[in-house]
Amino acid sequence: MRFSDETLKEITQRFRRELVKGLGRDTNPTSVLKMLPTFVQSIPDGSEKGDFIALDLGGSNFRILRVRVSHEKKQTVQMESQIYDTPEDIIHGTGTKLFDYVAECLGDFMEKHNIKEKKLPVGLTFSFPCQQTKLDEGFLITWTKRFKASGVEGMDVVKLLNKAIKKRGDYDADIMAVVNDTVGTMMTCGFDDRRCEVGIIIGTGTNACYMEELRHIDLVEGDEGRMCVNTEWGAFGDDGRLEDIRTEFDKEIDRGSLNPGQQLFEKMVSGMYMGELVRLILVKMAREGMLFEGKITPELLTKGKFETKQISAIEKSKEGLTRARETLIRLGVEPSNDDCIAVQHVCAIVSFRSANLIAAALAGILLRLKENKSVARLRTTVGIDGSLYKMHPQYARRLHKTVRRLVPDADIRFLLSESGSSKGAAMVTAVAYRLAEQSRE
Ligand code: BGC
Ligand code: MG
Repeated sequence: MRFSDETLKEITQRFRRELVKGLGRDTNPTSVLKMLPTFVQSIPDGSEKGDFIALDLGGSNFRILRVRVSHEKKQTVQMESQIYDTPEDIIHGTGTKLFDYVAECLGDFMEKHNIKEKKLPVGLTFSFPCQQTKLDEGFLITWTKRFKASGVEGMDVVKLLNKAIKKRGDYDADIMAVVNDTVGTMMTCGFDDRRCEVGIIIGTGTNACYMEELRHIDLVEGDEGRMCVNTEWGAFGDDGRLEDIRTEFDKEIDRGSLNPGQQLFEKMVSGMYMGELVRLILVKMAREGMLFEGKITPELLTKGKFETKQISAIEKSKEGLTRARETLIRLGVEPSNDDCIAVQHVCAIVSFRSANLIAAALAGILLRLKENKSVARLRTTVGIDGSLYKMHPQYARRLHKTVRRLVPDADIRFLLSESGSSKGAAMVTAVAYRLAEQSRE
């Protein structure tokens, strides 16, 4: 699980080849990187204003936000938000039930904020791969992560939500944009830093988008300017391209997942799977007598009992070993000091591998940008959001360091976008709104 820079560079090269494959008209259908056009062509220009609703579905929380962009002297963004549950029976039931529920939560939110009569423009952050031909349409290609509601794949999620809202009849909504969370993140960061042209998510799942030259996007007409492309890099390796680095643990995770054979890169690196990876390694080590004096407990054998947030706790520099002990006791083992140290080590290896692999893929995007701009030195900003990146004590530092090693001759700024993925849908809506107003004038 530990890679040399040589190996990482080789992975960067593989990723770049896949990326080019995904952009070509003839090669796209067989490419694992879907490289989805997003129809987002400009970042905020600072003149947007208004009152918007944003929905964020598909990350670790389902959130609804009211975002107000105002304009006294400086552009400011105010927001209020609420988190709603996404119970298992809703996300694994029928699509109708899922969208009825989303519409119900939106109704509740509008009720509470006294805006049911207002018909505010709505932006939807939908953190799954969607085929788009315009901003306010998104055909779900496939569910990922924890979601698996029936009858939604192949459908336009904007239509499904609109239908659910109409059926209720107690409020009106105008869904103006559907964006991937990576795009939302890039847009939110673009608000603070005009140089932002990449958005990445390292959370429950993982993904990245970036601004590509329109002339290189075969799937969209036009040669002038740029468009944001959603790479869906979670699927990297789905064609067997990463078999040389996938371990027995990665394979076991995949076999037990909701989507076997899919999102293989995501399963090696993202928050939904990292805790489970550590658990599988601990079980194997215990079986071989390398941990816990060979003792294995029922808890240790239970899927999901070791969570990624525990990795974050265990890797804290001061209290980490205490956290390791607590976690292990909760798993029913009586750990020795050496056990705690070993478990901390396993966590570090798994999370380091994640940061390294994401760095390798991100380096592919950055080198691509550098080539597109034909500059000797790349100066750019990467917007990032996601629970793993935010909560893990060492993750960000490790990621930045590796990226800087893999992409020399570059000044890269990493910008954490606090709730950027959700706010971003409002930002995109705000831009769309401004453009619509302008064209009316
Ligand atoms: C989805 C992406 C999303 C990412 C992060 C992946 O599973 O396919 O669309 O951006 O998770 O939420
Ligand atoms: Mg999110």
